[in-house]
Amino acid sequence: MGLWDDDAVDTRFVQPYQASKTYVCPGCNRDIPPGTGHMVAVPKDAVDLRRHWHRGCWINRHRRRPGRA
Ligand SMILES: [Zn+2]
Repeated sequence: MGLWDDDAVDTRFVQPYQASKTYVCPGCNRDIPPGTGHMVAVPKDAVDLRRHWHRGCWINRHRRRPGRA
């Protein structure tokens, strides 16, 4: 079971008007510019590891890693 499995994280959508900083998406290692709607994912067992993801990267995150993160 991986840290970013659906049942291991709490997620929420950040609306564009709520996004006031630049974040780095761990799915693609690219910036999420301010004003971009995106996801925040918080591992239930490791809340310090919360990360901001592009929505598409979050949805597709397991496809990049065959066999589980
Ligand atoms: Zn991304």
